[in-house]
Parts: sequence; structure tokens; C-alpha cells
Amino acid sequence: MTERRAAVVTGGASGIGLATVTRLVADGWRVVLADYNAANGEAAAAGFGDDVRFVRTDVAREADVEAAVGACVDAFGHVDCVVNNAGVGGAFGRLTDIEVDDWDYTFAVLVRGVFLGIKHGARAMRGRGGSIVNLGSIAGLAAGAGPQAYSAAKAAVINLGRTAATELGPERIRVNTVCPGLIVTPLVGDGAGAAQVMAGAQPWPDLGRPEDVAEVIAFLAGDAARFVTGEAITVDGGLTAA
Ligand code: NAD
Repeated sequence: MTERRAAVVTGGASGIGLATVTRLVADGWRVVLADYNAANGEAAAAGFGDDVRFVRTDVAREADVEAAVGACVDAFGHVDCVVNNAGVGGAFGRLTDIEVDDWDYTFAVLVRGVFLGIKHGARAMRGRGGSIVNLGSIAGLAAGAGPQAYSAAKAAVINLGRTAATELGPERIRVNTVCPGLIVTPLVGDGAGAAQVMAGAQPWPDLGRPEDVAEVIAFLAGDAARFVTGEAITVDGGLTAA
């Protein structure tokens, strides 16, 4: 019998993270669903039975991330993939008005959170190899596609992914970043507003769904992507190509 794979998915209680947990479980993975929101996380994990364990995790706290990775080893014996997905939107506003606390909070969740997932995920993968998938954004590729602190943080995530891929490649640990365009999740509000924003700008006529992103994450997580590392892949209906 082939050994079942195990993953940690941060922010797994909602949106793209929940779609990723669903997709990985369908592929036979077992998953630690690590999320800040205990009510949503527990409810989501309960729907999957023994294949998914919820661990309350604030990705900005090192002890929490270390504990989530450790819980995966304890429950499933190993860690084959960490999906650093947890995210917050960050405040809109001009650079001249943004408060330092808002800026720091956005960076703590989005950048420190990804760094900690890489640090503790890679430690757990030593001697075995594995895959790390980070959530960037098209906002990290160009100005004006998101709030300022969010966009700067996502640009940092894209570079961090490439840096980590370079460092960890010799240990057979791949690191890639997925950069979604506008995907309808609680983070961006209802689909009606999104449709208005996208009208005329995005070549593909439909709005992006969490499942569209989860599909690419699942590909990068598994062995089919064994020669893909240091990459940043857009999943945006052609928005950045237009
Ligand atoms: P979402 O709001 O549906 O889900 C985010 C999840 O992260 C929530 O369950 C939330 O509880 C959790 N979370 C927030 N802060 C946390 C913390 N400190 N520790 C642990 N968990 C925390 O959002 P989503 O749209 O699914 O976004 C997922 C990722 O995709 C984010 O990194 C986001 O920046 C990125 N992204 C989303 C879009 C989009 O259009 N939805 C576009 C580009 C990138």
C-alpha cells in the first residue's frame, strides 16, 4: 500500500484554503487545517472525519506554526506539504495615511506567516523532501491591484518563495508561489462587486473560484510537479496578460 501524504494548510477554514483541503483530501491526503478562526476551523474539519485535524493557529506566532507542523507529524507521521495560505486584506488608503500598526499587522500575517511556514515546514521535511506552496497575489506583481501594504507584502512573498526554493532545492524541497487574480471568497466580498470590478478587464468571462486556485495548489503539492520549483504562477483568468 502506498503511504498517504500529509499536509498542513494554513487559513484552511475558508475560501481558497478550504477548497485546497477539500481537493487534497479527495486526492487521498491527510491534512492539518491550521486557522486562526476556531469556530470555522472546527466546523470545517469535522466535515472531513479522521483525515483532517484542526489546530488553532495564528500564523504570525512562531510557537503556533511550529505546533501545527508538529501536530501533523504526531497525527500522520510526517509532513509532505505546507500550504502557506492564511491571509488578511490589509487596509485601503493612501501611503500618507496608513497607520504603522495596520502596516505591521498585514506584514506579520502575510510575510512572517509564510516565513514561519517555510522554516518549520522545511525542518520537518529534512531527509525526506517535500513541497511548500505559498499564496502570493497578482497584487504582488503590479501596483494598484490591491491595498498598498497587502501588495508590498505579496511582492515579498513572491521573492521569499524564490529564495527558499534556491536554499531548499538540494534537500529536495520545492517551493512555489501561486498568484491568484480576483477569486470570490469572503476576503473580497460578494461576487456582484467583483464582477463589476472585473468587467472589461479580465479576458476570461467567468469570475475566479477557490477551486480554480486549489487545483493549481494541488498540482504543485504533489509529485507531478517534481521539476517545478522557484516558480510564481498566476491564476487570474488572463488579467495580468491583458
Ligand atoms: P478568506 O478570507 O476566505 O480565508 C482566509 C483564512 O485565513 C480565514 O479562514 C482566516 O481565518 C484565516 N486567517 C486570517 N488570519 C490568520 C492568521 N493570522 N493565522 C491563521 N489563519 C488566519 O481568504 P481567501 O480569499 O481564501 O485568501 C486565501 C489566500 O489567498 C490569502 O493569502 C489571500 O491573500 C490570497 N489571495 C486571495 C485572492 C482573492 O481574490 N480571494 C487573490 C489573491 C490572493
